[in-house]
Amino acid sequence: MSSISDNLTPLECTQQALKWIEKKTLTQDEMIDLNNQVMNNFKEYVNPGFLEYRKSVTVGGDYGAVEWRASGLNTLVDTQGREYIDCLGGFGIFNVGHRNPKVLSAVEHQLAKQPLHSQELLDPLRALLAKTLAAVTPGKLKYTFFSNSGTESVEAALKLAKAYQAPRGKFRFVATSGAFHGKTLGALSATAKAAFRQPFMPMLPGFDHVPFGDIDALRVHLRAYSDVAAVILEPIQGEGGVIIPPAGYLTAVRALCDETGALLILDEVQTGMGRTGKMFACEHEGVQPDILCLAKALGGGVMPIGATVATEEIFSVLFDNPFLHTTTFGGNPLACAAALATFNVLLSEDLPAQAAQKGHVLLAGLSRLAADYPEFLVEARGRGLMQALEFRRNDIGYAFSQGMFRHQVLVAGTLNNAKTIRIEPPLTITLEYCHQVLGAAERVLAAMRINAPGAHVFMKPTAIAVTTPIKTAAPVGVAVMASASLR
Ligand SMILES: *Cc1c(COP(=O)(O)O)cnc(C)c1O
Repeated sequence: MSSISDNLTPLECTQQALKWIEKKTLTQDEMIDLNNQVMNNFKEYVNPGFLEYRKSVTVGGDYGAVEWRASGLNTLVDTQGREYIDCLGGFGIFNVGHRNPKVLSAVEHQLAKQPLHSQELLDPLRALLAKTLAAVTPGKLKYTFFSNSGTESVEAALKLAKAYQAPRGKFRFVATSGAFHGKTLGALSATAKAAFRQPFMPMLPGFDHVPFGDIDALRVHLRAYSDVAAVILEPIQGEGGVIIPPAGYLTAVRALCDETGALLILDEVQTGMGRTGKMFACEHEGVQPDILCLAKALGGGVMPIGATVATEEIFSVLFDNPFLHTTTFGGNPLACAAALATFNVLLSEDLPAQAAQKGHVLLAGLSRLAADYPEFLVEARGRGLMQALEFRRNDIGYAFSQGMFRHQVLVAGTLNNAKTIRIEPPLTITLEYCHQVLGAAERVLAAMRINAPGAHVFMKPTAIAVTTPIKTAAPVGVAVMASASLR
């Protein structure tokens, strides 16, 4: 490993890091040095697990794939100069693209003026963003609590529901199987995935899970328990694998909540901000939640920010003492500037409608591939630009995502959960890119068919380890993926 990174004093660590930050481009030697340091520091100081997880997918072999910069709205570049079409979108962060100029400009102006608030005077951007949220969100949603992440937006929603419902003797929560709401203890109690929960048992008391999309199960549950404070749902499950409930489900859930006095919390951390073809996914069914959770793309891919929007009736539990639930950085000026610019871009360019349109084209293409390669694929599904390819097995999906990476298309592929590959590009993705992605997917699947007819002879994912040295790792992208055509 790099000798430079060894035995540095803390001051030298920072000096070196500042040098990297200031650099716009890298020579070959600098690239190797930086990549070595990054690999080493991940192994020694971040978490060696990440290295194993990502290294095996990437082309850079022992040098891994270390990202360097965003290039266009829809592409990013690694330290070796390879440009990737981003079909992952940071799992729903980059709805307005990477470094959207309007978002950057707002943040840069605010940065020059006042990055963080005094915590004592009234900060103007919080007020302007809260008003914007009241106007853009459905129905009677009005007051907003700001935080820094999706998990925190869910925590605030749970606490709001508890404070509102406690005097009514309601304390329980109902979530759904396959749900993802974040990983702090409160949010994790609503999250369903056993692997994330198991080491931290017991969870908070009073959390139950019913099958997602099954209105009968929810009805039985809500009628059996009269003390349910709230039902918490994603309109479309994201982490769960882009699971779309039956038509009419959300409407029926809303009616059941009204009937039984449970609040409806919609977690639109991933489905919100235009992702599914409407500004918020609940608009597909005209459903209004009592509490709405937002984050991810709310910060325009530039700043982290979470928001919990509630009706006045519910939010008023915080009126007497606004310090009941607070966070130092939540709703800071930089984050609010980013979110205000993000809404401006989404609305003025009607990106939700664009997501619907382009999502149609992409999904039609992916569905065609699913039909053409039934030995690998179960189906393609999605709404707007929240899509997924479901493969027959983990190792097949893993081989696909690895292939796409080599064709310079970034899709998520994890060793343990590659059966469903999510495709969530920026809503700014062009039709041309959509066709390039489909072309790459076709080539990858065709190559897989030649290499593994009938999909019988894939290596176990754990056995796949690319150790190609950096010198021979010339771009292997097909011609349409050459970086010149990506600008
Ligand atoms: C990502 C996600 C979260 C958690 O958000 P973080 O910003 O990672 O804390 C919560 N809910 C849903 C639906 C998500 O997709």
